Amino acid sequence: MAIATKKPAEKPPLEKIFGPHGWLARHHPHFEYRRSQLEMAEAVESALENRQHLIVEAGTGTGKTLAYLVPILRCSERVVVSTGTKNLQEQVFFKDVPFLKKLFPEMRVTLMKGRQNYLCRQKLYDIEKQPVLSGMEEVDMYAQIREWEKHTESGDRAELQNLRDTSELWSRIDARGEACTGQKCKEFERCFITLMHQRAAESDILIVNHHLFFADLGLRQMEFASLLPDYAAIVFDEAHQIEDVATQYFGVQISNYRVEELARDTEATLRAKSLEGAEVLGAVADLRHRADIFFDLFPAKDGRNAFHNREPFLQTNRGTYSSLLNALVRLASELTRLKDRPEEINNLARRAEELRRGFEFALESKERNFVYWWERRGRGVFLEVSPIDVSALMRERLFDKVPAVVLTSATLAVAGNFDFLKARLGVQNAKEKVLESHFDFGEQALLYTPAHLPDPREPDFPRLASEEIVQILKATHGRAFVLFTSYQQMREIFERVRPRLRYPMLLQGTAPRTALLDRFRSTRHAVLFATSSFWQGVDVQGQQLSAVIIDRLPFAVPSDPVVAARIRMINEDGGNAFTEYQTPEAVIALKQGFGRLIRSETDRGVLAILDQRIVRKPYGRVFFASLPHYRRTDKLEELRAFMREC
Ligand code: SF4
Repeated sequence: MAIATKKPAEKPPLEKIFGPHGWLARHHPHFEYRRSQLEMAEAVESALENRQHLIVEAGTGTGKTLAYLVPILRCSERVVVSTGTKNLQEQVFFKDVPFLKKLFPEMRVTLMKGRQNYLCRQKLYDIEKQPVLSGMEEVDMYAQIREWEKHTESGDRAELQNLRDTSELWSRIDARGEACTGQKCKEFERCFITLMHQRAAESDILIVNHHLFFADLGLRQMEFASLLPDYAAIVFDEAHQIEDVATQYFGVQISNYRVEELARDTEATLRAKSLEGAEVLGAVADLRHRADIFFDLFPAKDGRNAFHNREPFLQTNRGTYSSLLNALVRLASELTRLKDRPEEINNLARRAEELRRGFEFALESKERNFVYWWERRGRGVFLEVSPIDVSALMRERLFDKVPAVVLTSATLAVAGNFDFLKARLGVQNAKEKVLESHFDFGEQALLYTPAHLPDPREPDFPRLASEEIVQILKATHGRAFVLFTSYQQMREIFERVRPRLRYPMLLQGTAPRTALLDRFRSTRHAVLFATSSFWQGVDVQGQQLSAVIIDRLPFAVPSDPVVAARIRMINEDGGNAFTEYQTPEAVIALKQGFGRLIRSETDRGVLAILDQRIVRKPYGRVFFASLPHYRRTDKLEELRAFMREC
């Protein structure tokens, strides 16, 4: 497929756009000239023109979205932009792109999300024939979706304001790939996925997220139809997240939910197609029963566990395991025996076979570069196979195939260089740039490292840390994020601090994330206690957020199966996992967490790290060398004085 989407245009210097008197200065309501933004735009343009890879760290406030969008719009070939979250994707598509349309009116841009975000028209029509809507709320929602389907252009669920994130109804009518019959579907020509692919094939820019991008990379490898049309370059925003996403998509995951979805879809398809299938229904019931017995073998405690003992597990439970595989084989064969079966039935048989192979891979394969583990989350049991090191896969599937890959984020460098990122992702031959933020961190932020607290692994730490947090919050009048590396510590310290202060206290887990953030933004002097999901992608400007307090250095939990496997592999290969992996990863996480505080030139506030190892241990130097040049103190009195000036 062609990737040259438009003729190369005459390009005036980027200074004419980003310079002090450039196009942005004349048209953007909040534009301020930033040398680093112009430098980033020049670096991205050069990477695209010369077909080179580029790593660029651009501090908060650089205006990096425009700095990569403008060169992309001036590029004559198709470029993909991949963001860390759907929120950021929408922000780029609905805010930044329309603004730049004034300068590039011809450009064609398509927003693409994962298939489960879009409605499947065929399933929507099929469900009408089934008495499966439960309760007034679902009936009402169905009616709304039926109406919306008549006029929506995208079919994207984000347009449905009243649809709950966890809607059971949506999971039965979304366009996920497993149940799609593709060109054999009656609705194929009108299908929202088909229309999105057509728009994408005619577009200059595709705005995707990392999950969709890596799902596509996985499909390309398996020689299925890909999701994205061919492209000449890719820009990853929030690129510090891509090792995690790649790990997920280069691995295999099977679960009791996937088995149940197959069972449910089989029943629904028989009903929707009015097929007689007593044998198939018998095979579905058998599969459910066998799967229940199999998944019950995993202890009922939430958490991620290494699956080192797969061989003894199989020896002990061979009968249960074989019965489950046989139930999948039986279902596939009953499905293919149905006379005059529509394509949906063949699809279900294929899924049963894929699941069987997934179980075999998770329980029997012996690949050295993979770690085998399982997780329980609520009612879900997940069997996982993850690559320990994604660098070779990334090189082979991405960096050697795509001429220009740009990695950008505010947090990519450790102690001023990209050695860690390059080693983790397998990047070779990339241009590199670290662009300082134009914020005056020495003026705007005070880093407080109380030296008198014990090591956070000491039993007395929660009590003494709680006392310290109370003192800091009194000085900042609340208005703080208190961020933790563990739920248990968060809850314990929350219970200790709450009775001591009269500020409104919010706790992660008591309401959905967006609701908590809205309450934080709209409640004066609020304090939010939270863990890792609030360390990234949260933007609260102004005085409402005046302090970020972090309980301990955010080292990944070494007992986590993926982390443990990575540590083991680096050490076995003669490296030092603590310096090469654990410390740099914690540095990036700390930079992310602290990055919540200063979001604009007028923000001021306090950063506190209660883990004195940052001062006492030799590796603390790496953290300080990686953080912006904050003013520093270990005296509470100086913190109070700083806050009085704010
Ligand atoms: S082509 Fe697939 S996703 Fe589209 S309407 Fe048909 S079954 Fe649904």
